Amino acid sequence: PRVSSIQSNLEELGSLIPSFQVLINLQHECLRANELDEEDYDKIKPILIQKELECQNVYFTYDPKVSTYALQNINIQIPANQMTAIVGPSGAGKSTLVDLLMGLNRPEKGSVLIDGTPLTKDNMLSLRRSISYVSQDPFLFNGSIRENLLLVTPNASEEQLWEALEFAASSDFVRKLPNGLDTIIGDRGIRLSGGERQRIVLARAILRKPSILVLDEATSALDSENESKIQAALDGLKGTMTIIVIAHRLSTIRNANQVIVLENGRVAQFGGFMQLTEDHGGLFSNLLQKQMKAAL
Ligand code: ATP
Repeated sequence: PRVSSIQSNLEELGSLIPSFQVLINLQHECLRANELDEEDYDKIKPILIQKELECQNVYFTYDPKVSTYALQNINIQIPANQMTAIVGPSGAGKSTLVDLLMGLNRPEKGSVLIDGTPLTKDNMLSLRRSISYVSQDPFLFNGSIRENLLLVTPNASEEQLWEALEFAASSDFVRKLPNGLDTIIGDRGIRLSGGERQRIVLARAILRKPSILVLDEATSALDSENESKIQAALDGLKGTMTIIVIAHRLSTIRNANQVIVLENGRVAQFGGFMQLTEDHGGLFSNLLQKQMKAAL
């Protein structure tokens, strides 16, 4: 997924390019692989996490001149091949933490470690090559489902496309479309429902065969059918890759193996979904109650 080739793909699409912001999002999805030329990129070995991704005493600030930290004293472990959810109020530091874990930002103090080895310039590229990131505002263009899937893995076979769709709980609906994979999905995928769009983007992320899948869950509510389909898709992926979800709707992370609750840049709580739910008076159970009331 070299951005140079993505850029030329986009140029071919001419007027279909929606906006600069979308290009930025797509670059983020491919984790800024454009920092390398193609040959170097192919030489980078992906990383398979054996045990865990870890933060040890991590502090991060966006402005070193001011002594306010976006994250402070973060000590967490994200076990390999499990699903970890990161939750917390707006501005708590969820995206900042994920950027650090992906090597997109560096801690001011402390370290991010992969299986006990600190993240350095060298293994950071391997880490990025191993991550698929699905942003809240993923890029879909007015081409076919096939073209949208092939955008970042142009050499994927028909079989691999269907396999990824299957994992993303999308194969049934794509099969039912009049032109299947060759169905044109409209500007930004407008002819698909919100849930279908998310699942196509999930399929595209899976096609890269990442060892880490990072999902920044869209804030807008999905209907419950689509929500449970995405949950089922993520459940199906559990055990095959490390999944990190920035969750806004707490109902979607019931099946997470562990939940990190952030507040004002610190870890306020950590534990399993049920454990946190039962911690009455805790931030997580308060957030959950608020969301349940809002949904009534
Ligand atoms: P949300 O749920 O609203 O996306 P979040 O939990 O992901 O929020 P972050 O985006 O990580 O929170 O932001 C943590 C803090 O860092 C906030 O105070 C935010 O204003 C600040 N921040 C985030 N990005 C930047 C930036 N690029 N420059 C300066 N400050 C930033």
